[in-house]
Amino acid sequence: MQHPSPSSAPILPSKNAHLFTVDVEEHFQVSSFENHVPRSSWDGQPSRVARNVEVLLDLLARHDAKGTFFTLGWVAAKHPGIVRRIADAGHEVASHGWWHTRVTMTTPDAFREDVHSSKRLLEDQCGQPVIGYRAPSFSIVPGREWALDTLIEEGYRYDSSLFPIHRSGYGYPGAPAIPHVIRRPPGTLYELPPATTVVAGVRIPAAGGGYLRQFPFALIRRAFREHGARGIPGMFYIHPWEVDPRQPRIAVPLLTRVRHYRGLGRSLPAMERLLREFRFTSVAERFARFADPAVATAWPFAPV
Ligand SMILES: [Zn+2]
Repeated sequence: MQHPSPSSAPILPSKNAHLFTVDVEEHFQVSSFENHVPRSSWDGQPSRVARNVEVLLDLLARHDAKGTFFTLGWVAAKHPGIVRRIADAGHEVASHGWWHTRVTMTTPDAFREDVHSSKRLLEDQCGQPVIGYRAPSFSIVPGREWALDTLIEEGYRYDSSLFPIHRSGYGYPGAPAIPHVIRRPPGTLYELPPATTVVAGVRIPAAGGGYLRQFPFALIRRAFREHGARGIPGMFYIHPWEVDPRQPRIAVPLLTRVRHYRGLGRSLPAMERLLREFRFTSVAERFARFADPAVATAWPFAPV
């Protein structure tokens, strides 16, 4: 493993740190597998998540970085030690829901139960308020804004589910590409979108592990430099299974297989580079839990 050298010190002061986030789920719980790995079989699948979270905790520790871990309630219930490990290492625990059900595939009542039960369990385990949420597959899409109301009513302070791009199945193309405040009838919610950049006039994602594995590193670097130059945190996200080239292969259609398994060996070296070049921290640390009004107004939040 490489360690950061003085010449590769972070180029940004910590107050301008970017956001490192992890969606904590098993390798068989991704949305593209949902028709191939039914929930009823989850208990019988080999578990890899604890080992893979350790890889990410080690990576962050070596770079003196912090992160936000959006954790599935299902994972927390089955492996309570994971949430405690994350919290003890100084990272933020947030919610990725309980069942990894996309908001496009659920009902308002089931969604409320999902975000309520996961928040409660995660708070019990980590001993801190859980104030952040990210929907599976960024599935708060136009028409599903009621989910934002539910999050506010259930005590969440920020969301990271609106991906300001156009994609089939997800994406909220009209949403601002920078952190902003969403004002809804029950209150307000801070929205923190994943980093994007514009190429040939088209806004493209530049923040996730899949893009880190499949896009040129220069494009990812450009996106984070653009954010840094504007004083805006760029949000990176990764899944534990993306640092696990030896995970069991699941029989899925070719395109899904390619998307899921291609380039898994490239994730860690690319993240080493990213963490050497840019400073990363958790949402809670960057925004001081949104408790200080001076902090909130210092950022380029803008109403939708
Ligand atoms: Zn997920």
